[in-house]
Amino acid sequence: MLTCRIHAKDDLRIETTDEPAIAPGQVLIRLGAGGICGSDLHYYFEGRNGSFVVREPLIPGHEASGVVAKIGPGVTRVKVGDRIAVSPSHACGACDYCREGREHLCRNMRFLGSASLYPHVQGMFCESFVMAERQCYPVTGDVSLGELAMAEPLAVALHGVNRAGDLLGKRVLVTGGGTIGCLTVIAARLAGATSVTVSDVLDRPLATARAVGAARTLRADTQDETLATPQFDVAFEASGSLAALKACMAATKRGGIIVQIGTLPHEPLPFVVNEIMSKELDLRGAFRWGIEFDWAVEYIASGRVDVKPLLSGQFPLQDAVKAFQLAKDKTRSTKVQLIAT
Ligand SMILES: [Zn+2]
Ligand SMILES: [Zn+2]
Repeated sequence: MLTCRIHAKDDLRIETTDEPAIAPGQVLIRLGAGGICGSDLHYYFEGRNGSFVVREPLIPGHEASGVVAKIGPGVTRVKVGDRIAVSPSHACGACDYCREGREHLCRNMRFLGSASLYPHVQGMFCESFVMAERQCYPVTGDVSLGELAMAEPLAVALHGVNRAGDLLGKRVLVTGGGTIGCLTVIAARLAGATSVTVSDVLDRPLATARAVGAARTLRADTQDETLATPQFDVAFEASGSLAALKACMAATKRGGIIVQIGTLPHEPLPFVVNEIMSKELDLRGAFRWGIEFDWAVEYIASGRVDVKPLLSGQFPLQDAVKAFQLAKDKTRSTKVQLIAT
């Protein structure tokens, strides 16, 4: 079978490997669609994602759907032929964080397609892969495998919104109109926000944000007063830019909440902490997700959430390099996916 592996910066190879064997409680899955995420782009174009450095060949990919090809002894949650969303999160279930219901903060987390541990935890950009049955979420209905693979990033957005608390009647700002920013627009509207404004430095992400329900969009690189005037109850920083975080601090009202949902550069960043104090801002982090993955699968499978405006194209695994290049170009794409042929 074909497997996509990143060996180092700018060194992505499509290799032929053996189909993995399954053990009791495990499921062999044929890749349906696998979305290329910012972290995958960092691994390929930089050889690292923040402090996580590629130290051995890494199969990227943590946003995937698939079809069950084989089940191991004892598996009851899925059967052969089921279409599933795959949760890339494998928390231990036993540590203090897991037991208090925050399994995404697990002390022993094994997250797929990540170089945070060594040996690395391999991801899902390959024709077939093995998962524990509890990581498989079967769906019925006619949702496509491409849409289903959006469950993971939608879960990230739902978790970010959950971290903000009650959004009913709230005016919301989202900085960054990429996949996570646009899914945050969707999630904030589900949660009752009266209006969602989105800023970005490119036109294409803003058009996508409008397509998924942003009431207003604006270019962050112009002298628009909106980002300098306190008027939002809650801001979500989904661009990974320090300028955007500063804009969130300026545009959020006193007593407001800012949720950092995008990845900022790993280096320490200077900002005026006094504004957090004098405006009584709550600056909160949102990292991955817990129960929100279950919700994301339901929202997508039921048609309550339409992620189709975010899907920019699918490429066979053999064309992974081309797909990564398109995924990196935000003037041409939002979410690019790899598929098995
Ligand atoms: Zn991701
Ligand atoms: Zn744990």
